[in-house]
Amino acid sequence: MDFSHSPKAQEMIARVKAFMDEHIIPNELKYMEQVDEHNGDWTKWQVPALMEEWKERAKAEGLWNLFLPDEHYGAGLTNSEYAPLAEIMGYCPFASEAFNCSAPDTGNMEVLFKYGSEQQKKQWLEPLLEGTIRSVFFMTEPGVASSDATNMEATCVVEGDEVVINGRKWWSSGVGHPDCKVGIFMGVTDPEAPRHSQHSMVLVPLDTPGVKIERMLPVFNRYDAPEGHGEVSFTNVRVPIENIIAGPGRGFEIAQGRLGPGRIHHCMRLIGASERGLKHLIERSLERTAFHKPLAKLGGNGDIIANSRVEIDMARLLTLKAAYLMDTVGVFGAMTEISAIKVVAPNVATKVIDAAIQIHGGGGVSNDFPLALLYGYARVLRLADGPDEVHRGLIARIELNKYK
Ligand SMILES: Cc1cc2nc3c(=O)[nH]c(=O)nc-3n(C[C@H](O)[C@H](O)[C@H](O)COP(=O)(O)OP(=O)(O)OC[C@H]3O[C@@H](n4cnc5c(N)ncnc54)[C@H](O)[C@@H]3O)c2cc1C
Repeated sequence: MDFSHSPKAQEMIARVKAFMDEHIIPNELKYMEQVDEHNGDWTKWQVPALMEEWKERAKAEGLWNLFLPDEHYGAGLTNSEYAPLAEIMGYCPFASEAFNCSAPDTGNMEVLFKYGSEQQKKQWLEPLLEGTIRSVFFMTEPGVASSDATNMEATCVVEGDEVVINGRKWWSSGVGHPDCKVGIFMGVTDPEAPRHSQHSMVLVPLDTPGVKIERMLPVFNRYDAPEGHGEVSFTNVRVPIENIIAGPGRGFEIAQGRLGPGRIHHCMRLIGASERGLKHLIERSLERTAFHKPLAKLGGNGDIIANSRVEIDMARLLTLKAAYLMDTVGVFGAMTEISAIKVVAPNVATKVIDAAIQIHGGGGVSNDFPLALLYGYARVLRLADGPDEVHRGLIARIELNKYK
């Protein structure tokens, strides 16, 4: 068993790290200020000038579309090679976009790459890969428990050479971005079909009549501008039948294919978020003194540091195992590992970052440190892309089946 990264990955690790250290980390607060200038009214959100600058620079340096294993469309890196790069990007919750590696675009690009027609690729995948437009994934609905995707009530019904879409979605991440032009909508096409063949995925340009952003939802009181998370209504929205991805009834199959890479990318970034939390925890505990001792020497703080290191390293190894299996046997051969890491990574990250907040005292919840931002990012991922309980349920089912 070889634990070292490939020479190609090592070279990219050095380059992505240098980019983060030089351009992104020192400018984090400036970026947040640029975001906050327009944070009030979502219809006026703008892309911070810094992000445009970073994107241009990263693209020119060839640090672009690193998530996509395909050599033609992407950087030709395996999931195992991409993992340490996503970890470095995860140091800062908004850094991935600079490398055109951010959710939900990466998952949507994977869908179009794997299942899209030539026309769909030309119209939507190419500008997404260029980074000139952004996208959204419409799956979760306010009216039903969406952990169980078979509950979905929104419809996309074929009528002649059109698809007619009706329903309401929420937590549609990215829909507020000024460059967001298209969404992948998942809905019921045939309620009489077998349970996992009822749904389709359909490409919906956001300027289609009948698509309306009703509001933006805050996360821990922040709107995550300029992407945002929207509640969106669809009223008799009509798009050409060619907008169905891979054909009617294949929504579930595509969802599994999409959520595999999407989930593991989040986990890779969360390892980086955890490392950053631990770095701040240690630095603060060494430089600050209470009761005549550095904080590191007080109470159980040494144990907290040790346990954080152990848990981050365990999470990283599990993430790499899942990535390795995806590279070698594919998403469907890595179901246990993908769900396992989707439970482990956000829980480790929230625990480590919470400990870092605690050791910073009041400063931990302020904006003087990135900890509150990192915590929000990690906590959300115990829900998004499937809550912990649903992933535990899947792992349990696979384990129990082994004994049937
Ligand atoms: C910030 C953010 C961004 C998101 N982005 C997107 C996006 O871009 N596109 C999109 O479509 N969705 C998105 N989501 C939605 C997310 O995927 C859903 O919130 C999630 O799947 C849970 O669905 P739900 O909210 O309907 O919760 P529910 O289905 O109502 O579940 C609520 C709770 O019930 C419990 N529960 C559910 N099932 C089980 C079970 N089997 N066993 C035990 N307990 C269970 C869990 O505690 C769970 O948290 C996002 C969510 C957030 C918070």
